Amino acid sequence: MQDPGCLFCKIVAGDIPAEIVFKNEVVTAFRDIQPQAPTHVLVVPNVHVASFAQVEDPGLMQAVWCGVQQVTQHLGLTDYRLVVNTGAEAGQTVFHWHVHILAGRALAWPPG
Ligand code: 5GP
Ligand code: ZN
Repeated sequence: MQDPGCLFCKIVAGDIPAEIVFKNEVVTAFRDIQPQAPTHVLVVPNVHVASFAQVEDPGLMQAVWCGVQQVTQHLGLTDYRLVVNTGAEAGQTVFHWHVHILAGRALAWPPG
């Protein structure tokens, strides 16, 4: 279930290169091309879902979040921020659901 025009579907399929840090049957995790912190990893479902708001399958929802936790453990992170930009006004620019993992520096709050 891929969208042939989708950048992250192409990364999941291996058609566009990315620095993959973790992969299982549900998620792929790779380093952001424009990192906003020393560690900036994106975790995406292997199937195309446009955004967090579009997820219909609770099993997928659960498996992706479990995947996010596995990635943080795989990277040995203890302090990190998870970000899910949902919709253009919230800053979403790639419309394939992804969870940002940001770590490695002090992060300000509130976010911009
Ligand atoms: P959003 O703004 O949708 O929440 O996040 C999209 C993220 O994807 C941005 O942080 C952006 O830097 C990253 N990104 C955009 N194009 C590419 C790409 O081709 N490769 C990788 N690894 N990251 C990308
Ligand atoms: Zn996609």
